[in-house]
Amino acid sequence: MVVETNHPDSHSQSPPVDNNINSDHLNLHHLPPNTPPEQPPSSASSSGASSNSLPGTPSATPNSNDEPCREPSQTDRLNFRLLASFLERINNGAFALPPHQPPSDDEGAGDPPAPRDPGLLQDAEALMKDAATAQGLLMRHPQVPDGLKTVPVTLFPTVLDRGMLEEVRGIQGSINALMHRVALDRGFIEGALAGAASVDPFIANLLEIYRQVDVEKQWQLGLFRSDYLEHAPDSEENGTAGDGNNSKHPAPARFKQVEVNTICVGLSGIGSRLAPCHSRILNFLQPAFQPDFPVSDSESLHLYGEALALGHSVYCRQHPAPHTRVLLFVIHKGFEFNIMDQRLVEFASGLPTLRRTMESLRSTARVDADGRLWVEGLEVAVVYFRTAYMPDHYDGKVDWDLRLLIEKSEAIKCPSVAYQLAGFKKIQQELSRPEVLSRFLRDDPAACAALLAVNMPQYDLADPSAAPAIADALAHPARYVLKPNREGGGNNFYFQDLVDRIQAVRGTPLAQDYILMAKMQPSTQRNVLIRAQTPPAVVDAVSEVGVFGTVLARGETEMLLNRRADAVLVRSKALGVNEGGLALGWSCLSSAWLV
Ligand code: ADP
Ligand code: MG
Repeated sequence: MVVETNHPDSHSQSPPVDNNINSDHLNLHHLPPNTPPEQPPSSASSSGASSNSLPGTPSATPNSNDEPCREPSQTDRLNFRLLASFLERINNGAFALPPHQPPSDDEGAGDPPAPRDPGLLQDAEALMKDAATAQGLLMRHPQVPDGLKTVPVTLFPTVLDRGMLEEVRGIQGSINALMHRVALDRGFIEGALAGAASVDPFIANLLEIYRQVDVEKQWQLGLFRSDYLEHAPDSEENGTAGDGNNSKHPAPARFKQVEVNTICVGLSGIGSRLAPCHSRILNFLQPAFQPDFPVSDSESLHLYGEALALGHSVYCRQHPAPHTRVLLFVIHKGFEFNIMDQRLVEFASGLPTLRRTMESLRSTARVDADGRLWVEGLEVAVVYFRTAYMPDHYDGKVDWDLRLLIEKSEAIKCPSVAYQLAGFKKIQQELSRPEVLSRFLRDDPAACAALLAVNMPQYDLADPSAAPAIADALAHPARYVLKPNREGGGNNFYFQDLVDRIQAVRGTPLAQDYILMAKMQPSTQRNVLIRAQTPPAVVDAVSEVGVFGTVLARGETEMLLNRRADAVLVRSKALGVNEGGLALGWSCLSSAWLV
């Protein structure tokens, strides 16, 4: 799912970043050789640097010793050049690189001279925060009522390989269609989730509703996002965690799928607005610089807004009435940090909107004899859930009854319980098996092959055939992620926690609720994190890319909408940070610079 945990308190640890921007942590010995930007990258893997972790990165990093990651790829060199010239000016000449030449061994040695331009970082930070504010890149302040603060962002765009990105953009249409087919396949959904439901009341409750709804007859509206991390297995990797590449040669990097989010997908709004800020920063740092860069790109926002509007118009055509019909946002009852993102989608839809919590809907929602959903005297055309994806979003039976009422109504649900179930980790694991995936994509073997190519190996912890992978994970926990069937961030297990958890649940019924997934080995790019009330931090960042897609379909034959945005979401986090929450600055919004 979801972009974001709405429970910022669940993260107690600070991201392992280096706030000391003037320290010798910025020694260029750790940066890859300089490459002119006009030179196309020959491959995403590189042998240019000896290390990709910052010296001095706090050792509190939970996984700094054993983190599987590659050296910086060639695609980061363009960003590196910009960053190097920036660092040179805010630090001193010792960090300067002669153009097109790698650093020599003694560069950066000795005491660093005084910064050449000590105010530059402050100016860049202030410009970035003002540009972000002007673009609406804001989130609610947790302590200041009515207050807003800027969203955490990277100072520089993230350099991405155009070909790699093309691959994952190209398969979004198939993912959209796949999610729809999976959601309608009752036998598959029931069978795949039966084990998890037997130990997980949350899944059991959702399945119980699914059984009572005519999903085949209802319009299904999906606002999806498929997330990816770059992965290139290193030459030594030939264990179970790899992706079948047993040769001694490194496989080329490509994006591998983290998950498909089907409920409460965020960041189509604010995520699309950072590119103009990056453009300003580049112009500020290098006035002559003319970036070939998307300056205003709210495509993903419009994609979502238009899908909601289309759902509304389909409903209105099929349920004629003289009065106005509304879009109902079902929202969290407590603090919502990601308010601007929600508002941008609301405004992009152009629809009359009601924002209500489940708590308030309990007493106000009703369904009439025609199956129409009414709230406070208004007929609801589309229900858009920005909550309801975690057990504690439901306050007991009364809220499950409300969900059932909504699901059975004629209103178009985004997502329906069927689409929500299709997004579970267990379903993703099942679809990573060629024999299962090909059943859903029988008519399109090319799509099937393309989807399998972005899969990482995944295993059901309760499946006896997973024993070798489990043994490998216990021996090499850094190569795996253990995932319960949960959304919202902060739920996964890494390193020793993964070992402890596997040992605790293995052989018990609880094992049925966990997926073991091989970990991606992304390359890093150095960047500067700009966050409210926090000093700028130079980090070696790992970036996650999200492709937005939309579907409006009914049954097996009617597909009114199957679209995706060209513009992708980019979120960057310091290497070693496991989860990706934006709320506490664990991850920062970035934008894509394609090379
Ligand atoms: P959630 O649904 O809770 O967001 P995800 O599956 O998206 O769970 O995992 C949360 C985060 O953990 C991701 O955003 C990603 O940064 C990291 N992550 C998940 N799976 C992997 C993986 N296989 N390899 C590396 N990192 C991963
Ligand atoms: Mg996620």
